[in-house]
Amino acid sequence: MLSKSRFLAGTQCHLRLWHQCYNRELASEVTPAQQAIFDAGQEVGRLATGLFPGGVLIEEDHLHHAEAVQSTLAAMKNPDVPAIFEAAFIHDGVRVRVDILERLQNGGWNLIEVKSATSVKNVYHADVGVQYHVLKGSDLSIGRAGILHLNSHYVYDGNKRQLDSLFTFSDLTEHVLALQEDLTARVAEFKEMLAAASAPQILPSRHCHSPYGCEFWEHCTADMPEFWVMYLTGIREERLNELAAMGIEDIRYIPRDFHLTELQKRIRSCVVSREEYVSPELDKELTEVEYPIHFLDFETVSPPIPLYPHTRPYQAIPFQWSDHILSEEGDLAHLSYLFKEDTDPREDFAVTLLETLGDSGTIFTYSTYERRIVTELAEYLPQRSGQLLATLDRFKDLQALIRRHFYNAAFYGSFSLKSVLPALVSSMSYDDLLIQEGTHASLQYLHMLNPSAPPEDKKKIEEALLAYCSHDTLAMVKIREALLRRF
Ligand code: SF4
Repeated sequence: MLSKSRFLAGTQCHLRLWHQCYNRELASEVTPAQQAIFDAGQEVGRLATGLFPGGVLIEEDHLHHAEAVQSTLAAMKNPDVPAIFEAAFIHDGVRVRVDILERLQNGGWNLIEVKSATSVKNVYHADVGVQYHVLKGSDLSIGRAGILHLNSHYVYDGNKRQLDSLFTFSDLTEHVLALQEDLTARVAEFKEMLAAASAPQILPSRHCHSPYGCEFWEHCTADMPEFWVMYLTGIREERLNELAAMGIEDIRYIPRDFHLTELQKRIRSCVVSREEYVSPELDKELTEVEYPIHFLDFETVSPPIPLYPHTRPYQAIPFQWSDHILSEEGDLAHLSYLFKEDTDPREDFAVTLLETLGDSGTIFTYSTYERRIVTELAEYLPQRSGQLLATLDRFKDLQALIRRHFYNAAFYGSFSLKSVLPALVSSMSYDDLLIQEGTHASLQYLHMLNPSAPPEDKKKIEEALLAYCSHDTLAMVKIREALLRRF
C-alpha cells in the first residue's frame, strides 16, 4: 500500500521507497533535531486549524486508516461541518490524510496542505498533486488545491497572533492539474517496482539529500571507500554520474584530465599524496591580527511561530555567546553568556556582547553567521547600531580562511568545525558533550525556558549549553594553534 509520504519517497529514489516498504529497520534513528523539526511542523499544523472554526478532526491514526475513511465520509455528509482536519481517503492503492478539507458552498472542497515553510518548494507540487489524485478518484469536486504556509513578512506584535496574517495560502491548482497524468503513471511505476523480486540497484549520490535527507543514507553508504568521490566538495550530479559510468568510486582513481574545480583538484592531490595542502599565505592570514584575539560563537533559536514582539517566523534570535580571549602574552581567558529569562534576549545579549568584545582586537568566528546576527541586532537596536556595526570591521572568518589556504585529507571534503577539529586537534572531540550541534542547542534552550520543565532538567541543560558553546570557541583557538605549527 502506498501513502503520500511513500509516494514522495519514491519520487526521490526507488530504493528509498523499497526500504520504507520492506526494510524499515535499516533506517537511522531520528535525531533530536529532526524530531524537533517534526514537532514544530505539527505545532504549526495545529495552529493553522484555528483559521477554520468549527472544523472537525478525524481522530483515528495511520494504523486505523479504514476507520478514518469512514469517519471522514460521515463528517462530509454533515453539512454543519465547515472543514475536516486529517481527512482520510484511499484510491488506486494510495492512502492520504489531507491536512484541511474545506467545504465550499457549491458542494465542492478546497484541498489544503499545511507547511511550516515560508515559501512554496517544488516538491510541494507532487505532495498536493498526489492528494488531488486520490480525492478526484474518490469522486470529490475540488475547488482549489494548495499550500497554507507561514508568511515570512508577518511580524508578531506581542498580542494575540493574527492567524490570517501569520499564514498565507499559495494556490497550486494549475500545477497540480498539470501533474495528474504523470502522477497516475508514477503510481503504476511504483507498484510495479515494489512487486519485483529484488530491490532496485541505486547508488547513493546527490539525490539522497534532495528534496529531503534520506533516512537510509548511513546504510547505503556503509561500504563506500574512505575517500569516496562524494567527498569532493561541491561536486555536481553530472560529474558524479560521469564517474559512476567510468566505475570510479574512489577519489584516488579519478584520472588527472577529469574536469574538477581547483578545490576538488586540491582534495584529490592531498588524498593521493597523503600530504596536507598549506598555502604560503596561511601564516600571514593567521598572524596579521590585533591583540587581544577573540574567538567568538553564538547560539540562536529560530522558532517558526515568533515568540517575541517585533520578530518574524524563523527569525534567528541570539541567546548565548562564548568568547575565548587570547592576549599577546599567550594568556587565554574565557567569558560566556546565556540568557535565562522567558523574554526577548536580544538587548541584553547585545549589551553583554559589546562589553566582552571591547574596542579592539581581531574577532575570529567560524562562518559568517555571527556577522549576520550582529548586523540584524544593529537593525533592531538603533541606539547600539554604531557600536555593533563597528565590531564587524574586526571579524575574520576562520572557516573561509581554512577553505582557501589549507586542506587535510581527513576533512573528507567538509570544512565544518566538526570535520576540521578531529583532523587537526585529536585531543578534542564532541563525543562527550550532551549537546553536539546547533539545532539541538536551540531545542534544549526552548525546553529550558518551559515553565513546566523540572529544575534539575533546566540546570542540566544550562550546563550543557555552556559546555557546547565554549567547546566551539576553544576548538577555534586550538585549530589556529595547530595551523600555526605548520610554519
Ligand atoms: S540513501 Fe540514497 S540511494 Fe539509499 S535509499 Fe536513500 S536516497 Fe536511495
